[in-house]
Amino acid sequence: MVDDGQKCEHNQFETKVDVNRLSEKEGGAVTGYSADIQIRCAECKTPFAFKGLSAGSMIDVPTVSAVYAEELRAPIEPAPGAPSWEANADFARKFTNKWHGTAGTS
Ligand SMILES: [Zn+2]
Repeated sequence: MVDDGQKCEHNQFETKVDVNRLSEKEGGAVTGYSADIQIRCAECKTPFAFKGLSAGSMIDVPTVSAVYAEELRAPIEPAPGAPSWEANADFARKFTNKWHGTAGTS
């Protein structure tokens, strides 16, 4: 676990996402995709660690970087039937409003 040693409340975040096309050899056929994700506080720059996953790199299982687990390595695949980002944002907004008891008249 990272000890930031500061009084920052970590209110804002920065993210870095690299999406990779995987192949067994350079220039070969694509055999899968992965997203490498990092998150840090936008104010104090403290990296955040991903909890509950093993370290390493596996094509079908999410893993994290060794030692600090500050990078999530997530296998991904196309999901053409999934809801759009806009639909998901609309759902999240309604859910959050209800959860906090400030739902409008939707
Ligand atoms: Zn912070």
